[in-house]
Amino acid sequence: TEPSPDLIVVGSGFFGLTVAERVASELDKRVLVLDRRDHIGGNAYSAPEPETGIEVHVYGAHLFHTSNERVWQYVNRFTEFTNYQHRVFTIYQDKTYSLPINLGTICQYFGKSFSPSEARALVHEQAGELDTAEAANLEEKAISLIGRPLYEAFIRGYTKKQWQTDPTELPAAVIARLPVRYTFDNRYFNDTYEGLPVDGYTAWLERMAAHPNIEVRLSTDYFDVRDELPKDVPTVFTGPIDKYFDYEAGELGWRTLDFETEVLPIGDFQGTSVMNYADEDVPFTRIHEFRHFHPERKYPDDKTVVVREYSRFAETGDEPYYPINTPEDRAKLERYRQLAQKEAEERRVLFGGRLGTYKYLDMHMAIGSALSMFDNRIRPFFDQGESLDGRLED
Ligand code: FAD
Ligand code: UDP
Repeated sequence: TEPSPDLIVVGSGFFGLTVAERVASELDKRVLVLDRRDHIGGNAYSAPEPETGIEVHVYGAHLFHTSNERVWQYVNRFTEFTNYQHRVFTIYQDKTYSLPINLGTICQYFGKSFSPSEARALVHEQAGELDTAEAANLEEKAISLIGRPLYEAFIRGYTKKQWQTDPTELPAAVIARLPVRYTFDNRYFNDTYEGLPVDGYTAWLERMAAHPNIEVRLSTDYFDVRDELPKDVPTVFTGPIDKYFDYEAGELGWRTLDFETEVLPIGDFQGTSVMNYADEDVPFTRIHEFRHFHPERKYPDDKTVVVREYSRFAETGDEPYYPINTPEDRAKLERYRQLAQKEAEERRVLFGGRLGTYKYLDMHMAIGSALSMFDNRIRPFFDQGESLDGRLED
């Protein structure tokens, strides 16, 4: 019979794999990783589209970027990165503009050349219509930050489609800030490091799981097998926290996405990787053309893969993607946090990752948070016999 694992990790996304890899290689402990899906990697998983070989990010486009030195050092153990820099464009009323709103967008939209200070003065004047501090909803807040014309062109329709809610009914807090750049810099991310894994996401994720102390069991739902697992083995759970507690405090709200993939008999559909669609009457929010994520690769020049993205509220059985975070959700989460703390004390279960903490985490944040959990809670548990601290990270 197999020796009993020292740690069970539920979920093979970046959070679970980072914990597993650290425990396996730093502490020389055996880790059993379970995932209900038939593949590794959680939402970062990617696979070649069969007809074209073009790498498609199966759960939505994933761009790696970070300013965290430690995370950058860590991820570079498993993969090299290309020099890809993400840029996004948006189509509004049959004209194409660059995002985030920058000097180029402003000059083009108003049909005039502005210096940075002229553009700043213009936006300031247009935003003067409303006071940010008094904004009662997302629409008012956005107008108070960037003015009505830019809001109506680039934000209103897109936001309405993404949230399926009129922006006058969305809380102002949904947008903390709306970046407007008064330069022609149209890079999407401001981080120090950015790139895509040279051999793709799945190769990176597989290398993290390749340690001989790690066993990965796919197509295995924790809730189906938990009674058969060895007792008292500390567990890191990265699935949905509300499901773990049988929805005792109610279901947490999520948005999900639908992806419509199409192979087209042309070499290039849109000339860039991501095109947003700002018009409300276009049903999808954006189109991804995956070949453009890897211009360095040799892909067929007579075929391309495009994926249309649609956003909606998640129903039971849908993939949870973005936490909605209504005040009701926050109240439920508070209750789950208390239950999680108790579960750590009584059953040695820790909760982490996007689903386990009900928190939107970029990849670098999921990895960073897993490294902290390893340092602050898991290593002390194994090295010094300390009890597991079950508090959920903020
Ligand atoms: P996940 O990747 O979701 O992994 C959780 C795993 O747990 C899954 O594999 C799931 O199958 C498994 N699981 C759940 N329940 C059970 C169970 N009962 N039993 C067994 N296994 C279970 N980040 C970026 O940095 N850049 C981006 O551009 C970016 N784009 C994104 C786009 C979309 C549409 C989404 C949804 C996310 C994006 N992210 C991006 C975030 C990125 O996906 C997350 O940071 C990452 O997935 C977090 O990893 P995780 O391990 O916490 O969760
Ligand atoms: N947004 C918008 N127009 C755009 C892109 C984004 O109004 O063209 C707003 C929208 O409210 C959205 C938010 O900015 O919900 C965050 O967008 P982002 O593309 O960063 O989110 P992602 O879906 O990529 O996480």
